[in-house]
Amino acid sequence: MIRLDPGRPDVAEIRRAAEVIRAGGLVAFPTETVYGLGADGLSASAVGRIFAAKGRPQDNPLILHVATPEDAHRVVLGVPPLAQALMERFWPGPLTLVLPKRPEVPDEVSAGLATVGVRMPDNTIALTLIAESGVPVAAPSANVSGRPSPTSADHVIADLAGKIEMVLDGGPTTVGVESTVLDMTSSPPKVLRPGGVTVEELEQVLGDVAVASADFVAMGPVGPVPSPGMKYTHYAPKTPVVLVEGEMGAVANRILREVQARHAAGERAGVMCSRETEALYAGHADVVRVAGSRQDLSTVAAALFATLRLFDTDGVDVVFAEGFDQAGLGFAIMNRLRRASGGRIIHAHVESDVDVI
Ligand code: AMP
Ligand code: MG
Repeated sequence: MIRLDPGRPDVAEIRRAAEVIRAGGLVAFPTETVYGLGADGLSASAVGRIFAAKGRPQDNPLILHVATPEDAHRVVLGVPPLAQALMERFWPGPLTLVLPKRPEVPDEVSAGLATVGVRMPDNTIALTLIAESGVPVAAPSANVSGRPSPTSADHVIADLAGKIEMVLDGGPTTVGVESTVLDMTSSPPKVLRPGGVTVEELEQVLGDVAVASADFVAMGPVGPVPSPGMKYTHYAPKTPVVLVEGEMGAVANRILREVQARHAAGERAGVMCSRETEALYAGHADVVRVAGSRQDLSTVAAALFATLRLFDTDGVDVVFAEGFDQAGLGFAIMNRLRRASGGRIIHAHVESDVDVI
């Protein structure tokens, strides 16, 4: 593991990492979203090592990371005006554009699809590594498939030590949820995965934005699968997570009742909540962890995955997670929480609670 100053990283160290990438090796590196597991995106064998290290299903395509908007042209057949406008507004940043791929992009990267996802991350270490590598860098999240995504170098080590050549430690990531994946081959463009750029922000540029069906975005496939990654269980700590959605007061009441029921059954229960509701659980739940503030969902996104991972060290039998508003970043946060819950979702109501799923 190599520690780097995120503001002024040591370029000589990053050059060593770039050599590892050029030689077909694997380097984990920070982006603004989560840590990525990078390999030469034009080498089928290097990319194959990513799938092996993560235990990633072969049919889940990888995103290619570029250091400049111009470099996107190396991997996609063309950049239509709308895509160009999005690059100008959101790059560098957490927006992945899915476009028809050039033949040079190995089928292993696109999982056999005719399209490829490309983005330019907003992180000096990542951009320097990609530029020094001289190739587009394929990089999924640097976790074991299915686990919460890594937002610190320690998370990467916990999942992948011994399986990869190098980890560049640039401190905790800032956004905390992955990039928004936007399919530019459909009209209007369609959000396949909600992420760090919100639907509302995309609408400002595009006017009209489609979103892959709500059920699909929440849980995975309910028909044809536009984005293969969405169909796999994901983001889950080892401890089972139960998501409780609804109005804030109803959610807290329902969680308190659920905790009581678990105690009666001799179990230990954790709660993942907001700054605003924290006090309600004190003296009731066995462990209370605050993800962030409802007043500023960027704090929740930033802490979400690290908080989920921490419950595995708490020795609780179950985690009850509060739901959040779906607006803005809340859409990506709820997508991750629903999937982390594996479908264990309770809809809390003020008068009486009904278990919908
Ligand atoms: P990860 O890199 O682990 O954050 O996952 C990348 C996500 O982007 C997965 O959900 C993929 O299914 C999705 N993705 C990547 N490339 C494409 C593509 N060409 N078409 C549709 N979805 C894609
Ligand atoms: Mg991932």
